Amino acid sequence: MFPGVSAITTRRIPAVVTLLALLALTACTVGSSHPAHARQITAAQPTPSAPAPPPSASPSPTAKPAFKSLAWYVSQVPTFPEAPQPQPVALPTTGSAAFWHRLPTDQRVAFITIDDGGLARPPGVIDFIWEARIPVTMFLNSPAAAEHTDYFRQIEAVGGVVENHTITHNSLAGRSYDYQKQEICGAADTLEELFGKRPTLFRPPFGEHDSTTLKAAHDCGAKAVFHWTETVHEGKVRYQTPEKVVQPGDVLLMHFRPALMDDLLAALKAIHRAGLTPALLEQYVR
Ligand SMILES: [Zn+2]
Repeated sequence: MFPGVSAITTRRIPAVVTLLALLALTACTVGSSHPAHARQITAAQPTPSAPAPPPSASPSPTAKPAFKSLAWYVSQVPTFPEAPQPQPVALPTTGSAAFWHRLPTDQRVAFITIDDGGLARPPGVIDFIWEARIPVTMFLNSPAAAEHTDYFRQIEAVGGVVENHTITHNSLAGRSYDYQKQEICGAADTLEELFGKRPTLFRPPFGEHDSTTLKAAHDCGAKAVFHWTETVHEGKVRYQTPEKVVQPGDVLLMHFRPALMDDLLAALKAIHRAGLTPALLEQYVR
C-alpha cells in the first residue's frame, strides 16, 4: 500500500477549489449582471459543451495529453509484468557491508535509484512517481535533505525510500576510518532525524570506495553499499556492462536534475524492454 493517498488528495484540493471558484464567479457575473451581453457572447462564439474539467480529473479517452505534461509522462509508461514476490538476498556476516554493482538475484526485477538532492527537484516528479507507481530509492546528501525535507518527504509519502549518500559528497576512497565514519554516520544521523528511519543502504560519492568504506558503512547501520550498472541522464540510458540491456538485479542511477522526469521514463522503458519489472531495493536487502 502507498500511504500517500491523503497527501496527494490534499495537495490537489487548492487547484480544484480555485477552478470551482472561478467558474462560480464567471457564472455569477454573466448570469446576474449582464444577461443580454451574455447571450450575445454565447451567440457569437461556439458553445462549449461542458465546463473544462479540473486539472486532476482523468482525461476523456479521446483527449491527447499535452507533450511532456504529467498526463503525457504517465501515458508513456509501459505496462510491466507483475513484480515477483521479493526474495531478500543473503548478507555478509563479516562486519562489513556488502558491495554490489548489481543485486545478486535471478528475479526479474531492476531498481531505480536517484542521487544527491541539492541541484534540482522537479515538482512533477512526486505526482509522476505516485501515478505511475514507480519504486525509487533516494541516496541523499544530508544537507540537501535538511534544506528540502518537504520535497523528499512527499516522495517518501508516495512510496520512495531515503538512503545515505554522505554529508559533503567528497570521495571516500583512501581516507581514514574516522573520516569515512564521520561522513557516513553523520549523514545517517541527520537522515534518521529528518525521516524517522535510519538508512540501511549507502552509496559512496562517485562510486569511489575501499574496504574501509564497507566497514564504516556497516558500523553506521548500512547493510549494503551500491554502485550501479546503468546511468540515466537527459532521457538517455548508458549501459556500464557489456550486455547493453538491463539484467535482473540491475541498478539504474540517475540524479535530482532538471530532466528527472525524462530520466525516470527512460529507465522505465529500458527495464520494460528487458522484460523486467521495477522494484524497490529495500524489499530485497533487509
Ligand atoms: Zn552523488
